[in-house]
Amino acid sequence: MPRPTPPAAETETERLDPSPAGIARAAALLARGALVAFPTETVYGLGGDARSDIAVARIFAAKDRPRFNPLIVHLPDLAAARAVAVFDDRAERLASAFWPGPLTLVLPLRPSARLSPLVTADLPSVAIRVPAHPVAQALLRAFAGPVAAPSANPSGRVSPTRAGHVLAGLSGRIAAVIDAGPCAVGVESTILGLAQDAPQLLRPGGIPAEALEACLGHPLAARGDAERPSAPGQLASHYAPAAALRLGVTTPGPGEFWLGFGPAAAAADLNLSPSGDLVEAAANLFHFLREADARAAGGRIAVAPIPDHGLGRAINDRLARAAAPRPADPPSGPPG
Ligand code: AMP
Ligand code: MG
Repeated sequence: MPRPTPPAAETETERLDPSPAGIARAAALLARGALVAFPTETVYGLGGDARSDIAVARIFAAKDRPRFNPLIVHLPDLAAARAVAVFDDRAERLASAFWPGPLTLVLPLRPSARLSPLVTADLPSVAIRVPAHPVAQALLRAFAGPVAAPSANPSGRVSPTRAGHVLAGLSGRIAAVIDAGPCAVGVESTILGLAQDAPQLLRPGGIPAEALEACLGHPLAARGDAERPSAPGQLASHYAPAAALRLGVTTPGPGEFWLGFGPAAAAADLNLSPSGDLVEAAANLFHFLREADARAAGGRIAVAPIPDHGLGRAINDRLARAAAPRPADPPSGPPG
C-alpha cells in the first residue's frame, strides 16, 4: 500500500557519470522512491521503482502528464521479465530474437509481480522491455527490481537523446540523470501487443515490423484495427468500477460512499489525501477506487472535487472515464 508522501521539494538534479559509483548512487536513489533518468539505446528514460505507487506517481508529476497511460517496465533479462509477465511461445521466440533491444512486448501481467497499478493503468496486461544499453543494463542489475520508464521529457515535448536534453526539460523535478552521451537509436522502442490472440503493432519503433513478422512467420494485424487497445480512450472500459460515480461532490447523498480529497473532506469514508497532496492522491487512486467499489456494494461512489492542475488533471481524467456512462448502466441522476 502507498506510504505517506515526503515533501515535494524541488530537488537539485544530480548529474551522475556511468561509473560503478554513479550506477550505485542511481540504484540507491531508485530504491528510496526517487526518480533517475538513464540512457537506453532508444532514448533517455525517466525511471522509477515500478512497485512503488509514490515513485510512479512522481513520474507522472515530473512529466506533467495529463493522463495515466500505462508505462513500459524495464528489466535486465528474460528471466526477470518472466517473473512480471506471462510468456507464451510467440513471446519467448520474439524475446530470444530481439532482446536485449528496442522491442517492447505487451503481455498478460503476473499479479505476483506486485507492480503499482499506476504502471499498467490497472490493466491486466503489462508492457515489458529489456534494453541493450550497457548503462541501462548496469542500473537494472544494481537496482534488482522492475523500473517503470517513459521517455525523460515533459509531456508533449520531443524525446531526449542526450543528458542535456533531459536536464533542459526536467532539471529540479527529478533526483538524478546518468550522463552517458547520446543514444544510438534515437527513436522509441517498437511496441507489440501479445495480450490478445492476434499480435498487434501498437507503436512502430526501433525494430522494423517486417523483422517481427519474419520471426512470427505471419503478417501483423493492421494498425487501426478495431481491437487495438493502446489508445487511452479505449482503455477506459477495462478498469471502470461496478458502482456508479458522481464527481465534484462536497456533500454526499444518503447511502453514497464518499471518496474524499483534502482536509475539507475529513468526514469522507476514504480520503485520497487528507492533506490535499496530489502525488499521494495519485498513488492511492486505483487502490482506493477498488476499495470504494467493494465497499459501495453496487451503490454509488461520490468523489470530492480534485484541483485540476498538476497531477490533478490526470486524476480527473481517470475519474471522468470511470464515471462515463457504460452501455449497461441504468439512467443515473442525483441520489435520493
Ligand atoms: P511511453 O510511456 O511514452 O514510452 O509510451 C508507452 C506506450 O506503451 C504507450 O503508447 C502505451 O499505450 C503503451 N502501453 C504500455 N503498457 C501497455 C499495456 N499494458 N497495454 C497496452 N499498451 C500499453
Ligand atoms: Mg514519450
